[in-house]
Amino acid sequence: MHSKAYIGRFAPSPSGPLHFGSLIAALGSYLRARALQGKWLVRIEDIDPPREVAGASQGILSTLEAYGLHWDDSVLFQSSRLADYEAQLQQLLSQDKAYYCQCTRKQIQAMGHSYDGRCGRLTPALNAGAIRIRNTQPIAQFTDQLMGKIRVEEDFASEDFIIKRRDGLYAYQLAVVMDDGDQGITEVVRGCDLLTSSARQTTLFNLFEYHTPNWLHLPLACAEPGRKLSKQNHAPAIDNRAPQQSIQAALRFLGQPSVDIDTPEIMLAQAVTQFNLDAIPKQQQIIL
Ligand code: GLU
Repeated sequence: MHSKAYIGRFAPSPSGPLHFGSLIAALGSYLRARALQGKWLVRIEDIDPPREVAGASQGILSTLEAYGLHWDDSVLFQSSRLADYEAQLQQLLSQDKAYYCQCTRKQIQAMGHSYDGRCGRLTPALNAGAIRIRNTQPIAQFTDQLMGKIRVEEDFASEDFIIKRRDGLYAYQLAVVMDDGDQGITEVVRGCDLLTSSARQTTLFNLFEYHTPNWLHLPLACAEPGRKLSKQNHAPAIDNRAPQQSIQAALRFLGQPSVDIDTPEIMLAQAVTQFNLDAIPKQQQIIL
């Protein structure tokens, strides 16, 4: 049987410059896609203006180019998709597959581990607030291409989670699934910090009737045990002028054979031919 052509992606949020942790996700997803002769798309997840840093989107794209991480097709900006997200929400609401919720943070905390669905049982239903899905077919298990069988807590899996926030912003889970679905992504390669999100995202892929992509989560780069490198904890930006060193370090982090120092493009081409999924370590690694 002919298998579907591979389409992968890298989906950074423009909340700061690329750092070593995001380079791992970019490089890992790039190598996997190219090793399978697939496409590699870049999507800027700019749906959270309060967390956006001016100039970060362009900065991320120029860094990718400086690293020889050239993408296919044009970059998709999530900010151009708001009407599509809204249309999907309206359809879910009209089919009673989602409902408004006005519970406060305090009320939700008092419920314990997860939201108890109380606003979904009100008659008449509320007509403003956050929007939650009716999670009638929770997904508590899935297979990761690197990590194997993953099981998340039942409470987490079955929660009626938020797809539009009270402040009017579209939730990451909604946007990422609609975009991965509409862009025909066949495999999601990203950091392990989003491992459990894959359970919720599978729920949404099913609900929206998309084909669910394969999942492949990479080990996280940590500043210290349990504390991942992130823009929030001010991980240093990677250097646009010396990509060779960072590429070598990122390949080492991913357990890949080293490559000869050359232009970034030539180094990546060699890394693609040598790419070995099984060599990627499964644990988080301390890099500082
Ligand atoms: N935009 C998300 C982030 O920067 C990643 C989304 C994803 O890969 O699913 O953390």
